[in-house]
Amino acid sequence: MKNHPYSSSQRRTPWDGKEDLSPVQAFIRSRYLDTWQSHHRILKETDEAELLNHLEANCCRYCGSVSFIRNGYTSNGIQRYKCKDCSRTFTVLSNTLFDSHKISIMEWIEYLLNLFGYVSFHSTSRNSRIADSTVKYWLFKLFEILKHYQDNIVLSGTVYIDETYYHVMKKDLIRKYDGTLKAAENQYCIGIGYDGSRVYCHNEGLGINTSYQKTFDTFINHIRSGSALIHDRERAHSILIKPLELTSVSYNSSDCKKLPDKDNPLQPINDQCNLLKQFLRAHRGFSREFLQDYLNLYAFISNPPYNRLEKIEYLLNCVINNVKTIRYRDVMSQKADK
Ligand SMILES: [Zn+2]
Repeated sequence: MKNHPYSSSQRRTPWDGKEDLSPVQAFIRSRYLDTWQSHHRILKETDEAELLNHLEANCCRYCGSVSFIRNGYTSNGIQRYKCKDCSRTFTVLSNTLFDSHKISIMEWIEYLLNLFGYVSFHSTSRNSRIADSTVKYWLFKLFEILKHYQDNIVLSGTVYIDETYYHVMKKDLIRKYDGTLKAAENQYCIGIGYDGSRVYCHNEGLGINTSYQKTFDTFINHIRSGSALIHDRERAHSILIKPLELTSVSYNSSDCKKLPDKDNPLQPINDQCNLLKQFLRAHRGFSREFLQDYLNLYAFISNPPYNRLEKIEYLLNCVINNVKTIRYRDVMSQKADK
C-alpha cells in the first residue's frame, strides 16, 4: 500500500484555494487544518526516528541475510542499511506494518487504544481522523500478528466452558420456503473457555449446537489435564473428561438462570459470553470469514497483561522485530523476562 494512508477528503475544506474568505471561513479552515495536522504529524517531526535508530537491524528485511552495511539515513532521519547479498536497501521498518507509511507510531498506538476500548472501526476512524480504508488495513495487519496468538493458551485450575452463538450477516441469512429462518445455517457456534484469568475462544462453524467432535477439536489442546471443569449439561462436553482427567461439575443452565447472578455457578462463563458478544456487536458489519480473527483479537484484548500500554508494547516489539505472528506463550515470556 504505497498511497498516502489518509483520505484526502478528510483533509479538504470547502474553501481550499479560494480567495476572499470571510473571517469566519478563514477561522474555521485554519482551526480545522491545525487539528488535522496535530493528528498527522509526519515522522520527521516526532522523536520516533530517534527511537527507531536505537533498534539495530539483525538481518536483511527482504532476504534474511546477515551480511549488510549501514548506508546513510532516509529523509525522515532513520538509519538505512544495504544488503550485500540481495543489494536492496532497508530500514528497521521495511517489510513491517509501518513500511511505506509516512505515519507516526503514535497514531498506530492511538488507533490501538481505541480498538482496545471496544470502539467500532468507524468511530476509530472518526476519532483519529484516519480513513476507514487505513483502519481496515491496520486491522488486517493486526490480525496477521495475532493469527497464532491463541495456539498456546492452556486453561488450568477451575475451567469453565460453554458455547455462544453469533449470527451470519443479514445479507447471508438463509430462509425456508415459508420465509422463516433456518436456524442451523444462520449462526456460528463459538466454543469459549475461561479459567478466571484467561479466555480462549474458537469458531466451531455454523450450527445451533456443538458436537462431540467440535468440542473435542476446540478444547482438547487448551485445557490442562487434571483441571476442574465447570459447565452446563451439554452432552458433548463429556468427551473431554476422560482424556484430560477432568473433575466435572455440571449444572442445569435453565435452573441457574433463575438464580441471582451472584449465586449462579455458571455466571463467570456467562459474563465472558456477554463480553464477547458486546465486542462482536461493536464491529457487527465484518465479513464472517474473519470471525476467528476477531476472536483472536478479543482474546488478546481480554487476557493479561491487562494494561493497554503493555499490550501495545508487545505488539510494537513484534512489529519492529518483524515477527509475523505471536503466540500467547511468547507474550507471557516477554512479561516474565522483565
Ligand atoms: Zn537481502
